[in-house]
Amino acid sequence: ESWVSVPKVELHAHLNGSIRDSTLLELARTLGEKGTIVFSEVEHVIRKNDRSLKEVFKLFDLIHILTTDHSTLTRITKEVVEDFASENVIYLELRTTPKKNDSIEMTKRSYMDAVIKGLRAITAVDVDFGCHDMESKGSTNLQPINDVNNLSPRKKIYVRLLLSIDRRESTASAMETVKLALEMQELGVVGIDLSGNPVIGEWVTFLPALVFAREQGFRITLHCGEVLNPKEVHAMLDFHPERMGHVCFFNEEHWKRLKTYKIPVEICLTSNIMTETISSVDVHHFADLYKEKHPLVLCTDDSGVFSTSLSKEYSLAASSFGIGKEEMLRLAKSAVEFIFSGEEVKRELREIFDSTMKELR
Ligand code: 5GP
Repeated sequence: ESWVSVPKVELHAHLNGSIRDSTLLELARTLGEKGTIVFSEVEHVIRKNDRSLKEVFKLFDLIHILTTDHSTLTRITKEVVEDFASENVIYLELRTTPKKNDSIEMTKRSYMDAVIKGLRAITAVDVDFGCHDMESKGSTNLQPINDVNNLSPRKKIYVRLLLSIDRRESTASAMETVKLALEMQELGVVGIDLSGNPVIGEWVTFLPALVFAREQGFRITLHCGEVLNPKEVHAMLDFHPERMGHVCFFNEEHWKRLKTYKIPVEICLTSNIMTETISSVDVHHFADLYKEKHPLVLCTDDSGVFSTSLSKEYSLAASSFGIGKEEMLRLAKSAVEFIFSGEEVKRELREIFDSTMKELR
């Protein structure tokens, strides 16, 4: 069964984790020629297939060396959005950590401007990123809508941005990211994410920035329970974020609270298995949460790093848990309710799903 033609909503995708292998290798080759890195060493790391969670964060340090300059950011943003659109992702919340690098005169703001430039550079598909100035495409041209038979010539994708706080950051740096999000609300920034190596940093460091973000009206999603840390999971549940990612190392009390609060969970099957956070797909908590009708959304996490795609994640869920096509479509549609955009976008997305469901019958 191919899930490429089915409309899908992606809510957990890290920009620098979603880069094509071919682009990463090309960037590595270029930096290798300049002598900044040793290409053969990097090539081996990029091509390697299974990596522990610890190795993933080492890989990200390497990826950031290759990608963190303005023009490369613009390029990868464009490619990542095009790739999602090409597999009929109709709404994408793309998250990235704004980075500062004095040696190339990069500020968090200029980092994000390079990302926005990438969104504006897309011509292969219509992009609505919530920015209604003259330059934005798609917003004045709303009719081409994806359909299962691919009858419409052009695809359209809604893109919204989440700014990530890295767990390596200080309170002040996290606060700077939230302030940047405020400046960029008109450019499609709808929420804040907390991510980065889960064995680094303390919840109390990020809490003030997250509280401030919430006061300013931002929705918040937290990477939660990727490693055993019951105290932190407890504190994160106290915070009651709008969504949570992963939720792997949960105890009975945590499950009970998650279910009572009905906090939607971003499920990243391949990522959890490849990083050995979950030992195999058949023991994944997706099964229990799905059975109990807990709000869930299937996501890729890092489609580049884990060699996956949202269609592959749908296929994996359908085959591993024996879920039929109609039921999968209902699951896909239910994600619309957990997006961080407003009612207008939700209504449009529901319509796309409804027409797809009709065509299937
Ligand atoms: P970026 O924010 O640089 O665009 O995307 C890469 C970053 O996302 C990584 O450096 C890391 O902070 C975060 N990230 C990507 N995948 C994961 C994951 O599986 N778990 C956590 N906690 N963070 C991740």
